[in-house]
Amino acid sequence: MPFFTIITVMGSPVLLIGYDLEETSRSNIIVKFLNLVPRIHVEYSVPATFFIQGKTLLYHLEEFKKIVKKYSDLIDIQQHAFSHLSHRDPNASLDDNALEREVEVTSDIFKALLGVNCIGLGVPGGSKGFKGKPESLKKLWEYGIRFVRSLDKDEKGNVLSLDVQPFWYDELGPEYPPILEYPVQGGYESNIKMGLNKKTDFVQHIKNSIDYIVEKNLTWCYVQHAYTSFWKDPKVKIIEEMITYALDNKVSIRSYTQYYYEKWRERKQ
Ligand SMILES: [Zn+2]
Repeated sequence: MPFFTIITVMGSPVLLIGYDLEETSRSNIIVKFLNLVPRIHVEYSVPATFFIQGKTLLYHLEEFKKIVKKYSDLIDIQQHAFSHLSHRDPNASLDDNALEREVEVTSDIFKALLGVNCIGLGVPGGSKGFKGKPESLKKLWEYGIRFVRSLDKDEKGNVLSLDVQPFWYDELGPEYPPILEYPVQGGYESNIKMGLNKKTDFVQHIKNSIDYIVEKNLTWCYVQHAYTSFWKDPKVKIIEEMITYALDNKVSIRSYTQYYYEKWRERKQ
């Protein structure tokens, strides 16, 4: 398992690059994304996590099989539920059993079709996390989920700052299982891009964020969508700039799964 053997540099800033792949039918964007992005990560030898929706997997099964076969040492595969239920149904929430049911089915599909055990869940559409919902988390734990990326707003509904760091839910109380939360800090990249005119503005946003995590020794759980990866950027050069800038500034780049296991080991010491 080469994935989990990287030695942690204690106290160094960390960048986690996660991509959400969530097209609900056959899509050229996904095909193009899968052709380009893994190669970039190979070129720089840095990992990433793909949070893939069950539907997206079904419509691009052959492509994903190739990714697992060719890139499993760098591309970590996790799930993004089966459908984007929170977007489709504004009344759906984490209280619904809908998410739990989708997670269970999606994990089964990933296992049966790709041979991948999902331990991570990017909750579609995000939420205010699982605080106050230990029963939901327990269900996810039963289905094999060990980390979630579900918190994207604070109590007042504001975008989270980079100071909000990954945390264990059982720190909130013994009724919670020990699942690690990766907050979406700084807002979704898709929303930020919508407010910008130039590629260079977004690159500057990335550099500022990296400067901040370097200065304060933080972890940044970065999320990018496949469908916005080509925004003003047909060759996904922004990701290359991000990786280069992070490495030049001695930021460790991890997959979400690597980081999870490192933190899991730390808590057992
Ligand atoms: Zn999504």
